[in-house]
Amino acid sequence: MRPIGIFGGTFDPIHYGHLRSAFEVLQALRFEEVRFIPCGDPPHRGATFAAANVRLAMVRAAISGQDGFACDEREIQRDGPSFTIDTLTALRGEYPRRSLGLILGMDAFLGLPQWHRWDEILNVAHIIVAHRPGWKAPDTGPLGEIIAEFGSHCVDDLHDTLHGRIYIHAVTQLEISSTEIRVLIAAGRDARFLMPDAVRDVIKESGIYEKCAIENNA
Ligand code: ATP
Repeated sequence: MRPIGIFGGTFDPIHYGHLRSAFEVLQALRFEEVRFIPCGDPPHRGATFAAANVRLAMVRAAISGQDGFACDEREIQRDGPSFTIDTLTALRGEYPRRSLGLILGMDAFLGLPQWHRWDEILNVAHIIVAHRPGWKAPDTGPLGEIIAEFGSHCVDDLHDTLHGRIYIHAVTQLEISSTEIRVLIAAGRDARFLMPDAVRDVIKESGIYEKCAIENNA
């Protein structure tokens, strides 16, 4: 049984930076699947621009037809803040003998010590850091300490153990951000080639980011 990758985010909207990173992890680390989990109520930031059902529709549209990609609605269905540790604990209960790998971009990994019960994550999952080539992992502070103790350079470790390793994986860096896409659309421009056309269609139908020019530019 190969590992399941867990890729959480606001996905407001999902774009090729997310999709390419997830795909490279899926292939290079020989994962069974990458599960995209749009968060409901993000605890670390303000309200999302698109409603949960629209973000969910965008994720579904983005991954449609792609082998190895799946969408998991649990954080959107759950009331209260979307704490990753709760999601991982629930998945651990559902897959007691399956390796789980939480996939984080570099920026998300650097913010990990601010997360609720972040130091329990390795008790239930591995952490996969999808980083910019040439980026140097922190070697001091709490993140430096956990990398020194739990870091691994061996993909097989992620298959042979169920949780507890940190694996840093270089992915093609696409300098795309959801924030920039929202600003671009609010300015009346087209986000073509930054995301799948199916996601653009959801955005056009909902008109969501056209209406939030003031907030984006604030
Ligand atoms: P925003 O601009 O609204 O902050 P975002 O583009 O950073 O959004 P999120 O949904 O917050 O997207 O990110 C979810 C996950 O995807 C995080 O782990 C983040 O590090 C990662 N990520 C975001 N953008 C990229 C990118 N261009 N390449 C690789 N990973 C990314």
